[in-house]
Amino acid sequence: MSDQRGSTEPPIPGTAVERRPAPVVRCRRCHRPLHSPESRWEKLGRHCADAPEPVRVYVIDQDPLPGT
Ligand SMILES: [Zn+2]
Repeated sequence: MSDQRGSTEPPIPGTAVERRPAPVVRCRRCHRPLHSPESRWEKLGRHCADAPEPVRVYVIDQDPLPGT
């Protein structure tokens, strides 16, 4: 089905912005911008994924799942 034309609202003058391909995903360790899909998915660059896990600085950055 290709009926997107009829449901697409016209852009408001002055506020129309180009759609960005994807938001910048940064490595959760070194905060470098990630480019490879795998690194972006993991939020961890290869350079850090291969590095040993830091023991002293262990940040749990996960939101609690709903319903648990
Ligand atoms: Zn990194």
